[in-house]
Amino acid sequence: MDMTPSSVYILAMPNSALDILKDVFGYDTFRGRQAEIIAHVAGGGDCLVLMPTGGGKSLCYQLPALLRPGTGVVISPLIALMQDQVAAMRQLGVRAAFLNSTLPAADQRRIETLLRQRELDLLYLAPERLLQERTLALLEQSELALFAIDEAHCVSQWGHDFRPEYLRLDVLEQRFTAVPRLACTATADQRTQDEIVAKLGLTDGRVFVTGFDRPNIRYRVVPRTGGRAQLLRFIGREYPTAAGIVYCLSRRRVEQTADYLCEHGFRALPYHAGLPNSLRKQNQQRFLREDGLIIVATIAFGMGIDKPDVRFVAHLDLPRSLEAYYQETGRAGRDGLPATAYLTYGLQDVILLRRLLETSEADDRHKRIERQRLEAMLGYCEVASCRRRVLLGHFGEQLAEPCGNCDTCLTPPETFDGTVVAQKALSCVARTGQRFGALYVIDVLLGKQTARIERFGHDRISTFGIGSELDRTGWRSVLRQLMARGLLTVDREGIGSLQLTEASQPLLQGEATLELRRDPLHVTIGRTGRAGRTGSRRQDSADEPLVLKAVAGALDRPEVSERFARLRTLRRRLAAEAGVPPYVVFHDKTLAAMAIHRPVDKEQFLAISGVGQVKLTTYGDQFLAELNAEPPAAERPAD
Ligand code: ADP
Ligand code: ZN
Repeated sequence: MDMTPSSVYILAMPNSALDILKDVFGYDTFRGRQAEIIAHVAGGGDCLVLMPTGGGKSLCYQLPALLRPGTGVVISPLIALMQDQVAAMRQLGVRAAFLNSTLPAADQRRIETLLRQRELDLLYLAPERLLQERTLALLEQSELALFAIDEAHCVSQWGHDFRPEYLRLDVLEQRFTAVPRLACTATADQRTQDEIVAKLGLTDGRVFVTGFDRPNIRYRVVPRTGGRAQLLRFIGREYPTAAGIVYCLSRRRVEQTADYLCEHGFRALPYHAGLPNSLRKQNQQRFLREDGLIIVATIAFGMGIDKPDVRFVAHLDLPRSLEAYYQETGRAGRDGLPATAYLTYGLQDVILLRRLLETSEADDRHKRIERQRLEAMLGYCEVASCRRRVLLGHFGEQLAEPCGNCDTCLTPPETFDGTVVAQKALSCVARTGQRFGALYVIDVLLGKQTARIERFGHDRISTFGIGSELDRTGWRSVLRQLMARGLLTVDREGIGSLQLTEASQPLLQGEATLELRRDPLHVTIGRTGRAGRTGSRRQDSADEPLVLKAVAGALDRPEVSERFARLRTLRRRLAAEAGVPPYVVFHDKTLAAMAIHRPVDKEQFLAISGVGQVKLTTYGDQFLAELNAEPPAAERPAD
């Protein structure tokens, strides 16, 4: 398909926001505070928009850009994704383009001309491009509808995504006084919000905050028992054919995990900073364009990934902060359909992170911040009540009721009075001189006659063999929880020996009690009998039961899921022909609605949520033909 802007179907400008919502985007109603924000920006106001991932931020600037005369300029740090964002807009009939260094010079000149001639609705730019004097001059000569500053938390020097160029975006306020500015982000605590407002000069503007909750994501944290095999079981049982992201901390773990998944019949690709640029780009593209791929990545992957149908995000290592964790897990389920955030962690993670903290060269202030971050993360992992409450509470949001969609709500963990076992563990650490690691301490508790223990004479101390009520796994769990709660820590020299803390004294002296979680032996949620070794994954029908069930509870109708599978095949072909990711043609949700309602003519087709005028024109005939090609139900052989 020819995708040059001049050939794109140009809409007669509809006059109200609601008309555009339906005609262009194919949606019937605004979500959350979208209508308010759009009215504010269309009226020329500045604002900061805080919405969770998948909340619908883009519409808040795309639509006013269509309502106001001139071009909306979108500033985004993610050059690699601009092409898809522009493709998605063009599929809707919106005249969109991007300018960046990857574009041949002739194309750049052509787009500049279109901009001057007012033939663009949206122009995407990276901040470094915008800040070039040449670009600023070009923009001054053009009519502008608005500036949208995406990923606005990048102005924060404290944040993990800091981009120095963002600090220079105050140029917009100085040189384009009359053009409204909208900054948006999915993650910003109060301090970051203030920073955005101050640095982008939004002081007269409004701040629209939508709750952070992502109710469709099921949060789950499991103690590590079997490393990669555990991940395999999780994916094999619950998401055998879905797209997902697996995060690991090191490049080596990324490579090993991707290989391991491939060996077991899953299609997985690695992504980390050590791969050649071209390969990294290619893997990201494949993840966006193909159905049902798993990407195994370091945290270098993912900012701004707007693939809507990522069904799970798994962390194999403990993330550095709850902020980072929430942002990463937020990449699951942007389409609003059920998704899972899965985290495994164990005693080793806690020891490692505590050790990094204790031996870090950072100044006291930074160390304190790091320590608070770690405490918050560990608190989340070990909580025995609703996890979402902890998460949202961290961002200053109170949840009135337990969420009912996290592991602790669904299967409340057993707790037990851990006072005595904790005392045993702590005094064993004390009696062995606070000079040994976890494994050694456990061996002493269990009364193992190892050569090392005998050499140190620890087979003769009072805590030798006093821990027979638990096995090795049980003691690891206890030590992990003591570490997580700051009742134990590690030495400052980086050796990994366990040490007592101030906080452990009351417990040791019998002045405090302690409630501990009993780690479940095997955590299984979902179907059995579909363990990892399932051979190759089917490509065609990626988890349609899940999507269909979520959309309409239509699981019990085989013809619906068969229809859905056919629509997906058609979508994949059309997407490949147009050179765009499948979800740019139609979202899963839209296909599911077609499979369920089975529209027979253009009018019914247009009534499906996610179908606008241009998509009707571009794809209506082909999808209607596919839907109508089906034999009537009565002639179909019984299953
Ligand atoms: P964000 O940028 O906030 O992460 P997006 O703007 O990508 O989220 O929107 C998430 C999804 O929700 C997109 O697929 C978008 O088309 C859809 N969406 C946005 N607004 C609406 C609406 N009013 N009705 C239905 N779907 C919507
Ligand atoms: Zn909950």
